[in-house]
Amino acid sequence: MTQETFTFQAEVGKLLDIVAHSLYSHKEIFLRELISNASDACDKLRYAALTDEKLAEASGGDFAIALKLDSKKKTLTVSDNGIGMSRDELNDLLGTIARSGTQAFAEQISKNNADKDKKDKDTSALIGQFGVGFYSSFMVADKVEVLTRKAGDEKAWLWESDGRGSYTIADAERETSGTDIIVHIKKADKEYLEPMRITNIVKTYSDHVGVPVTLAKEEGELETLNTASALWGRDKKDITPEQYTEFYHHVAHAFDEPWLTLHNRVEGVMSYTNLLYVPTAQPFNLFNPERKNHVKLYVNRVFITDDCEELLPSYLRFVQGVIDSEDLSLNISREMMQHDPKLAKIRTGLVKRILGELKKKAEKSADEYANFWGNFGAVLKEGLYEDFESREKLLEICRFRSTESDELISLAQYVERMKDGQEAIYFITGEDQAQVARSPQLEGFKSKGIEVLLLTDPIDDFWIQSVGSFMDKTFKSATRAGSDLDSMGEDKKDEDAKDDAKTDDAGVDALVARLKVALGETVKDVRASSRLTSSAVCLVSDEGDMDMHMERILKQHKQMSGDTAPTPRILEINPKHGLILKLSESAKASTEANPAIDDAAHLLLDQARILEGEAPADPLEFARRVSQMMERGLSL
Ligand code: ADP
Ligand code: MG
Repeated sequence: MTQETFTFQAEVGKLLDIVAHSLYSHKEIFLRELISNASDACDKLRYAALTDEKLAEASGGDFAIALKLDSKKKTLTVSDNGIGMSRDELNDLLGTIARSGTQAFAEQISKNNADKDKKDKDTSALIGQFGVGFYSSFMVADKVEVLTRKAGDEKAWLWESDGRGSYTIADAERETSGTDIIVHIKKADKEYLEPMRITNIVKTYSDHVGVPVTLAKEEGELETLNTASALWGRDKKDITPEQYTEFYHHVAHAFDEPWLTLHNRVEGVMSYTNLLYVPTAQPFNLFNPERKNHVKLYVNRVFITDDCEELLPSYLRFVQGVIDSEDLSLNISREMMQHDPKLAKIRTGLVKRILGELKKKAEKSADEYANFWGNFGAVLKEGLYEDFESREKLLEICRFRSTESDELISLAQYVERMKDGQEAIYFITGEDQAQVARSPQLEGFKSKGIEVLLLTDPIDDFWIQSVGSFMDKTFKSATRAGSDLDSMGEDKKDEDAKDDAKTDDAGVDALVARLKVALGETVKDVRASSRLTSSAVCLVSDEGDMDMHMERILKQHKQMSGDTAPTPRILEINPKHGLILKLSESAKASTEANPAIDDAAHLLLDQARILEGEAPADPLEFARRVSQMMERGLSL
């Protein structure tokens, strides 16, 4: 027998160390993980056998997962007659971290370990959150052996490890294709050698598994432990909430409670069953660049793929679960899926159902919906520009923060509260809610009680460009010129808003002219504004120019070269502000060149930039001007 020794990839080593030493309170989940892998292996062979007759023979047709306990050898064996693994696959799948979920787990763990307070407390919660699949068997094992033979291959292999840094692979024999996972149970965990305990674990965690899970009794007979029928095919009234949850944990590799469960049978042009879930917690891979959906496709109970892009749009990728349709061909290939009108029909039906159910939830319980929105709102909003047909429905279930409300509001609520003379739905975009809410551009809106939506998801800048309007009201940025505040609403009595303060029209005109000369091309225009109540200046974009925040995002994401000259903005000044009044006076008094006014012009512009979260145009010049101003002003 030839045996080779390998070291685990460093990450696996670390992970195993954590698994072995964490005081995880639900160690029993290791069995769920092994059964889940065995059931996946059967699904895979069943699917492969559809197109390869040789494999059909190899499988023998009757898939089963057999559990065996040996009290002398102190082993628990999980056997399946599924797809099996080749030697290379053993190395790839059990020697490295193949799953991004497990990877994410390992990363989170090392982050937590850096943070002492979090260390022990969170580790077990994390195992729960991510699941560590096969490796979880080392929670209860001194040693794990994997005897496996790939369907279609003659050779079998024995993988073996004590979970401490290395594993071996050796030649072996196995009569049929499939896999035995032989778990050598630790002394302290001998409960997992008791038939009653094993029976209970299987009934609790693996009842839904579509393949029979049997336990060999002393007398040699087999007892089937699970119901072994696909859960989604059963009658709703025969399914308990616990069973729904358990199945969710299985399909989604998740460990939270489902926030929403949709189980339906649809009969019509296309007949199918859907059992779909919306999670309570945000899955770790939600913002992965692939934006893949996570719904598994079955045809007549036969697993086809968990990688069918056509089944659901990306903006519903938080939805988990299965679709089973008898109207699709079993031999459906990836290329065919892309153009299959039947799949397109299913997709349309699913989108409609999911959005409809979300709307019901939103109307029934604002609190619960707020939780959902916090997790998945940013993803759902992608649909606003990707799925034109569902746009209205999506807009109805979108929720927003605003200047006039502590609660999330809907667009319908916004429209209902619009002030006399208000035509548009005003919004402002930015990174940080608190910061955006204090933008100088909003001062005038606030003093008139005109509500402004605070959009702080990166996606907001994109959909808002393409959506245009809601209920015939156009969306309009509060940072744009031409927001005609004068004709809207009534001023609130506000101490800060120095409304009665005098203005000096001639002086302001003179100042505007001077500022234009001093700033030249760097601004598009300079003008007095009614937008400001307490700040001296702010920047706004001209009608038709790119939004300022949008421009920053594009530069950050390298969609626009960082060297591209910024689009010139309009500098608005507050004619009631003390500083502006003073500058106006001196601008009016003399038309001669005055370096102090030139410096003030640049400082005002830089100040407005800083308020936008941008850097001064030229930090050195900025510092020089500030110092000079201070020197002039200080009379110590
Ligand atoms: P996951 O199941 O989420 O992929 P696991 O750690 O549970 O992660 O398993 C890693 C991989 O090992 C599986 O994806 C599968 O390819 C392979 N594997 C594990 N158990 C079996 C088995 N019984 N038969 C065939 N392949 C298996
Ligand atoms: Mg697994």
